Amino acid sequence: MHADSEVIIVGSGPAGAMAALALRGRGVRLLDFGHTPANVPRLHQNLYELRRTQDITSHVINLRPSPPVSLKLRAPALEFVIRDWQQFAPLASSTFRPVISLAKGGFANAWGAGVYRFHDGDLHGYPISASDLAPHYDAVAAHIGISGDRDDLWDEFGPEPSLDPPMRLSHNCEQILAAYQRRRPQGVRIGRPRLAVITQPRPNREPYAYRALEFIQTGDPAMYNPARTIDDLANGGAITYEPGHLVQRFHETTNGVEVITRSASGTTTFRARTLILAAGALNTARIVLASNNDHTTRLPLLDNPMTVVPIFHPSSYGRTLNPHDSAMAQLNMVLSADTFGAKYQASLYGCNGAPMSEFISLLPFSLDLNRRLLRYLIPALSLSILFHPAEPGPTQYLRLREDGALEAVYEWRPDATIAARLCAVFRQLGLFTAPFLAKHSSPGEGIHYAGPLPMSDSPQRYQLHKDGRLEGTRRVYVCDGACFPRLPAKNHTYTIMANAHRIASGLKP
Ligand SMILES: Cc1cc2nc3c(=O)[nH]c(=O)nc-3n(C[C@H](O)[C@H](O)[C@H](O)COP(=O)(O)OP(=O)(O)OC[C@H]3O[C@@H](n4cnc5c(N)ncnc54)[C@H](O)[C@@H]3O)c2cc1C
Repeated sequence: MHADSEVIIVGSGPAGAMAALALRGRGVRLLDFGHTPANVPRLHQNLYELRRTQDITSHVINLRPSPPVSLKLRAPALEFVIRDWQQFAPLASSTFRPVISLAKGGFANAWGAGVYRFHDGDLHGYPISASDLAPHYDAVAAHIGISGDRDDLWDEFGPEPSLDPPMRLSHNCEQILAAYQRRRPQGVRIGRPRLAVITQPRPNREPYAYRALEFIQTGDPAMYNPARTIDDLANGGAITYEPGHLVQRFHETTNGVEVITRSASGTTTFRARTLILAAGALNTARIVLASNNDHTTRLPLLDNPMTVVPIFHPSSYGRTLNPHDSAMAQLNMVLSADTFGAKYQASLYGCNGAPMSEFISLLPFSLDLNRRLLRYLIPALSLSILFHPAEPGPTQYLRLREDGALEAVYEWRPDATIAARLCAVFRQLGLFTAPFLAKHSSPGEGIHYAGPLPMSDSPQRYQLHKDGRLEGTRRVYVCDGACFPRLPAKNHTYTIMANAHRIASGLKP
């Protein structure tokens, strides 16, 4: 049996890291599965300059077979983010195609770092308002550092007390922004993304250096990664970090909570006065159902499915690719509910940073011809990734099977007209694209999981009080995306972080 602690936090992703930050110095033990990056040598120069001087194939190409997942999660130095999930956190489904992270820092080792405040419209159906979250967004922002601009999306993305200047814009996205400012299509707003990427120096963090390495390695000090918060807190003695533990279940005792884990050395029981679950929405739901030995209840399930549309910039065909463009989101686009039937948010990317091997099989000619064609084509391509909002419904649920696997069902159909309407917007901006080129992802591929244990004003079983406490428990709290009763199209991790900080800050000593 292990020594007691005041608080146990499960998970070191954005949610767990912000709960730990809020509770630092208060007897926190953070339990984590905690995979760390494989021993792939780090690269320190610009991707395109490196390619001229050394063979970086082993950084770019992963020869191990992998299921179809986000390009980033397949790079040899990034695959640790989802390593072993099917073995240790299995999920069965024919309609929901998720991945699960068991890494120190969680998915935020590979994230796009887009950080957007939810306003009261986004929080419709939540028992909290934007003013409840505001001081916690401020605290998170001061910790992580955010760059962005005061532009047409300022109100939509919320007031940041301090922003680093935005990142440099690529040539193609400069053209899109200029065309938008001239034509202003109805119901469309375009502006710079808010990114948890600093563009000005901070103590112990250099600003973004435009090395275009985002698709092949993690740990750029300019980009926020919760693993760094965990390391800083643990090294400073403000928390105890215990990797290598797969949390199975908890049960409450008269004095607190017991948490049972599995590790290489067997089963361990940890005790604390309070438990905070931040294992990611899917695994937090699994732990709660397992703790109740419940194999029948269906919990709600949410994700932001995506529609991906390639956009062709005719005037950039054959142009030289700028090796110093960032591979992060260049622009955001918000489509209004009045004009488009629902409110959507899209991120626009260039095609730099991603290996050419990703595109080569998409063209119909010989490998050699495809490769030569792509040299002209890639500088002229952007990708628009449109996120769909999500509401709970009877055909979207999670259940825990007797064998410990989660079973998920997620029946979803996109609005059949959205791709055509999005393409029409791009054509108004002078770009070429066509609805038949649009690809709708499967639910689960959005990696914006939420919903199973929603906060509510009058919580029932498997729901949370406004302060994050799980109904029916005295000292068990949930602070990750499982809390969210519905998902706007806006990326939700910044709100997970602010809400985790709010819930942890509200705990009585
Ligand atoms: C390629 C990519 C791009 C993304 N881009 C963005 C973006 O731009 N903006 C945005 O808002 N979101 C983005 N996301 C989503 C974002 O990363 C997630 O929403 C976020 O990481 C969720 O944080 P979390 O702390 O709730 O969970 P996770 O990040 O899933 O972390 C879970 C943590 O719990 C631990 N854990 C899990 N189960 C157990 C267990 N049983 N026992 C012990 N430990 C456990 C894991 O080790 C991990 O530390 C992106 C994700 C990906 C993959």
